[in-house]
Amino acid sequence: MSSASEVRDLLARFNLRPRKSLGQNFLVDDAALDRIVSAADLTPEDTVLEIGPGLGTLTRRLARAAGQVIAVELDQNLIPILRYTLAGYSNIELVHGDILKIDPPSLVGESLHGPTDHPTTRLPDYSTTPSPHYKVVANLPYYITSAVIRHLLEAPAHPSRLILTVQLEVAQRLIAGPGDMSLLAVGVQFYGAPAIVARIKAGSFYPAPKVDSAVVRIEVHAQPPVGVRDVDHFFAVVRAGFGQKRKQLHNSLRIGLSLPAEVVEAALAKAGIDAKRRAETLALEEWAALAQTLPDMK
Ligand code: SAM
Repeated sequence: MSSASEVRDLLARFNLRPRKSLGQNFLVDDAALDRIVSAADLTPEDTVLEIGPGLGTLTRRLARAAGQVIAVELDQNLIPILRYTLAGYSNIELVHGDILKIDPPSLVGESLHGPTDHPTTRLPDYSTTPSPHYKVVANLPYYITSAVIRHLLEAPAHPSRLILTVQLEVAQRLIAGPGDMSLLAVGVQFYGAPAIVARIKAGSFYPAPKVDSAVVRIEVHAQPPVGVRDVDHFFAVVRAGFGQKRKQLHNSLRIGLSLPAEVVEAALAKAGIDAKRRAETLALEEWAALAQTLPDMK
């Protein structure tokens, strides 16, 4: 049975309607589902954290390619369907919960370190570098995309790769360069290298959303590409820079960091950045230079 007819059939059989409030647009295009799995480039050593398995269509494909899949679904109504569609897959662990309220390393750490039936690797220390066998795959509701990315990348244990299906416009924001940078782009590019690997038409989902989507692959850096003395301070500076929409940097930093104008102007000059520039024009290296010259408020 194709995914399209299976999804309609399941919803009818369990008497359920997709919940718009939870961003439930289910992928029903087999080629798109296969494209997502191949972008993850999984091996039997891998543990995949899938966020929002929905009806389990993608989950089963992931389970065939990876050693272990941990699928976190928020909607209680989908849990019985998932138990039905995922029955027979001994390497899938279904978790009912909100990914934003769960500490991802606590889920994945257990499966990477603990005794399991699956061929997993013991990792020496995954608190500082990305775990090579921990991958994330998610077809996310648009309104939690940024929060989920931050939640995963700011956790002490990093996945080595994320495959995120997001609205095309969000995908373009993630890969933007200087001129179009945003807080989200700086946040993602500090931790990893994002690339759009496929476009998915709105009609590939049921129900079809208003806009097309894209699959973004983020390869997580072993080390950030720019040196910063304190990650919290770096992001406090970036947040302040983007905090005042369309304001010149000297103003947004002064307001956002509650610093005297002369301190901000001296720091900008020392970092070689024109005080009249706007946050979206700065490259990652320039943010790092600025974080170096601005005093730490702690
Ligand atoms: N993976 C399925 C697919 O590709 O067809 C479903 C994708 S659907 C766009 C998003 C899924 O995420 C829904 O099943 C929704 O209930 C779930 N979800 C929404 N917010 C969530 C959260 N905070 N934590 C976990 N799952 C969530």
